[in-house]
Amino acid sequence: MDSIDIHPRALREAATMILEAGGSGPDEARIVADHLVLANLSGHDSHGIGMLPAYERSLSNGTLNPNQDVALVRDDGAVMMFDGGMGYGQVVGRQATAAAIERCRSTGVVVAPVRYCHHLGRIGTYGEQVADAGLASLHFVNVVGHQALVAPYRGTDARYSTNPICLSLPGSNAQPPVLLDMATSRIAHGKARVAHNKGEEAPEGSLIDHRGRKTRDPSVLFRQPTGALTSFGDHKGYGLAVFCELLGGMMSGGRTAQPEHEMEGTIINNMFMIVFDPDRLIPRSAMEHELAALVAHVKASPAADADEPVLVPGDPERASRIERADAIPVDAESWRQIVAAGDRLGVEAGRLEAVASAPPR
Ligand code: NAD
Repeated sequence: MDSIDIHPRALREAATMILEAGGSGPDEARIVADHLVLANLSGHDSHGIGMLPAYERSLSNGTLNPNQDVALVRDDGAVMMFDGGMGYGQVVGRQATAAAIERCRSTGVVVAPVRYCHHLGRIGTYGEQVADAGLASLHFVNVVGHQALVAPYRGTDARYSTNPICLSLPGSNAQPPVLLDMATSRIAHGKARVAHNKGEEAPEGSLIDHRGRKTRDPSVLFRQPTGALTSFGDHKGYGLAVFCELLGGMMSGGRTAQPEHEMEGTIINNMFMIVFDPDRLIPRSAMEHELAALVAHVKASPAADADEPVLVPGDPERASRIERADAIPVDAESWRQIVAAGDRLGVEAGRLEAVASAPPR
């Protein structure tokens, strides 16, 4: 199936139109659109503008509250607890992260969970926000409010979701930030959605069908009876996913994936976030030296395949942003779904098509 190339600016404009039609004020629409398009630029189409149809569903079933600010529900020095009030995660998550960064300047470390956010999007965004402020962070996130997607290790049906983790350290002139940002499932659900939309197979070992048999067919997630995603790294990824439930879901005062909690057909992210100031631990110059030296050391390992050199986390996203700076490929089915979602919110398909096909300014 073919795809269309859309300039990032045009994609931002199209997303902004849809978000404003969904009730967001101009600032919120811009923040969410920027976040989504940055995910596409970073190579993570699973968390880019292809999420808009899901957001439209949440708007229409009343589980996503536009123009919602984050609430600080506990303020106790190095402990700050936030409630996202089911606002756009890209807004409430960013506000919670900004407040934790500010507090960290005086306390050196902040434990800052934020519960009840509608989809937070690409968790790396918050790691980057912290790294840009010269600080470091750890993020453990769970995903509830909808049908489970991931089977526990040794299990045969879905019990929880793709529970992402992000770890970030600030960069220096010598080395950009090292930032690991990944789902604990072998692939993100959105990647299975994109593969399904493109008619492609999912990677080996990433899916099981409804009987628990391994498959590469992503449609098992989109039909009844439903299959499941698997954890990365067998028991290790599964163990991390359990901690995303316990830290992100439980310690935030939100919800874990267990069935006593409601499933309203929405996307709820609860994020357990720790922000710390590396300067409180070691001199900045020592950190910058050691970080650059370690990265150089691992990258000096001779590549098994000359076309695929050793990288560190954060490198692929930086490379993708350069590669996609002028054109983001959007597969035809995802674009059709986005235009249909816009239409349901009152944005005429012709207006979106005109924006998408306009020559770059
Ligand atoms: P992925 O499998 O592409 O892994 C991405 C991570 O691995 C990045 O940190 C990247 O820099 C690093 N990486 C990739 N190749 C590398 C290499 N060769 N060497 C070293 N590091 C390398 O990503 P994913 O697991 O599919 O997750 C995609 C996105 O989905 C993430 O941004 C994540 O936050 C997001 N996500 C969000 C939710 C949510 O509920 N909000 C849920 C799941 C995933």
